[in-house]
Amino acid sequence: MSDRKKVGVFCSGGDAPGMNAALRSIVRRGIAQGLNIVAIHRGYKGILDEAFEKMIPRSVGNIIQTGGTVIKTARCERFYKEEGVRQAAEILKSYEFDGLIAIGGDGTFRGLLELQKVWDGQIIGIPGTIDNDIYGTDYTIGFDTAIDTAIQALDRIRDTADSHERVFIVEVMGRHSGFIALKVGIGSGAEEILIPEDEPIDLKAVAKRIKDARDRGKTSLIIIVAEGVSKPDIFTFCKKLTTQPGLEFSTHISILGHLQRGGSPSAVDRWNATRMGAYAVDCILGGDSGIMVGEQNLKLVKVPLKDTQKKKSIDRYAHSLIRDLAI
Ligand code: ATP
Repeated sequence: MSDRKKVGVFCSGGDAPGMNAALRSIVRRGIAQGLNIVAIHRGYKGILDEAFEKMIPRSVGNIIQTGGTVIKTARCERFYKEEGVRQAAEILKSYEFDGLIAIGGDGTFRGLLELQKVWDGQIIGIPGTIDNDIYGTDYTIGFDTAIDTAIQALDRIRDTADSHERVFIVEVMGRHSGFIALKVGIGSGAEEILIPEDEPIDLKAVAKRIKDARDRGKTSLIIIVAEGVSKPDIFTFCKKLTTQPGLEFSTHISILGHLQRGGSPSAVDRWNATRMGAYAVDCILGGDSGIMVGEQNLKLVKVPLKDTQKKKSIDRYAHSLIRDLAI
């Protein structure tokens, strides 16, 4: 048996640009500091399927600039059940893992909290999700790139909206939170930003503001709608909004969808993913467990994993600006 610690690393949940930069950093920092690093393919599913790959420094060559994740990610139904978690713990024990580093979102961290109950290895989380909805960290890997991608799309939509003097409703990602909608909306100069945190939305008031803006001479308008608001789907939601009695208007709908997920990571995402990956390794070396590596006020911090399940609050000040910025 080697006296080098054996540490597994995996990505879980939705892919996010920068996951590869984090992986590269974990592998190279880990090996340089004397760890055995093993990639686990396809998240929790990969533990249960024993999809392990010993990493060498060359395994992560030429990936820092790539989107997605080279070790794949997955959502794993079996891991939601106690039996699946227990089985994963047995497998980790039999392969003599000493620690795990998981890159994912709040669901991934819920999985880690379950695993912690039955496995005594070191557990470290890294926030990797384009949603930026994780409590305890100002930043999550992938958010910066996703925002840039969506804003580029919005700029194109604005050209058409402006030329044809149209109202556009644009759906962006965010089933439970409006972090993407808010930043994309502010950055693209949208006239309305509708977020799940404001549910139930007063559709009559929104329609009235659209009509008033038209009356003030605004020719093109963009309404950003987070996925979590457009229930049961964006088409039904749009119909309800645009047929408010006395306030009817016509719109075009655009769904950005998975376009927001992929792509080459921004400089910010590469930088932060690299720092977080290396810091996660340092946490393993320092004996930490049950924590997420986070960033607060531009400094790396350790956040208890259980805190990641709290609700992160939206920047209400930025959201309140939308009325003034859209006059
Ligand atoms: P994203 O923010 O991109 O959606 P996420 O990590 O929140 O990422 P989820 O699909 O919610 O994505 O979770 C990823 C995986 O974590 C799930 O497929 C499941 O295997 C595991 N997981 C989530 N919640 C739990 C739970 N309560 N118990 C055990 N495992 C869980």
